[in-house]
Amino acid sequence: MKLTGKLHSFESCGTVDGPGIRFIVFMQGCPLRCKYCHNPDTWKLEDAKYERDIEFTINEIKKYKPFFRNGGGLTITGGEPFVQIDYVEALLKRAKEEGIHTVVDTSGYIFNDRIKEVLEYVDLVLLDIKSMDPVVYRDLTGVELENTLKFAEYLSKIDKPMWLRHVVVPGLTDKKENLEKLSKFISNMTNIKKIELLPFHQMGTHKWEELGIEYPLKNLREPTLEEMKEARSFFKLGDYLKKKLK
Ligand code: SF4
Repeated sequence: MKLTGKLHSFESCGTVDGPGIRFIVFMQGCPLRCKYCHNPDTWKLEDAKYERDIEFTINEIKKYKPFFRNGGGLTITGGEPFVQIDYVEALLKRAKEEGIHTVVDTSGYIFNDRIKEVLEYVDLVLLDIKSMDPVVYRDLTGVELENTLKFAEYLSKIDKPMWLRHVVVPGLTDKKENLEKLSKFISNMTNIKKIELLPFHQMGTHKWEELGIEYPLKNLREPTLEEMKEARSFFKLGDYLKKKLK
């Protein structure tokens, strides 16, 4: 039987999910329920808009190869890409055969020996550590933090290039203890090439409304520029800065 993937959508010229210009594949399915999720319509596998085989998807990606010259390539995001591990592995493998740079954007929640195998075909991981406080993490995502930290440690151990992502939510993830703990956790990780502290915003609200789900953070404000500067200051002290981030 032909391997097919349940897909949410494609974006042909993404510029924020990895280096250069990227073809983004949004996979369907996610075990997390982040309170600030921008894509709640990716949560349930059965809500997939498309089901496509590998050759269909790789042919779409290949059309954009000329745009990938300056370090761009394929980014697989979601949802949580590793929910559909077989499809993601096959797609990454085909992309590598075509000489395309590969990025996976993940929460790190699914972490097991299969993921370790698949990482062989991943050039860069975008890992979102949503909080370093297990209680806040559980409240924010509905799942436990432990796997994500193990995932990060494994990436460091195998020296897999990684961008760290962390959304700064006022009153939830902007606390000094949390940011200090995160900074300390990554301080010896030489595989980290970039740290992205992203300001929380309300732009995904309409999707929650369209799905008829109440948006739990509707009363929260976005962080100010000053607060973002303050949050970033915790990461100026880390050892990784001495290692010249690219
Ligand atoms: S991991 Fe990503 S897709 Fe899944 S709920 Fe969280 S923000 Fe949404």
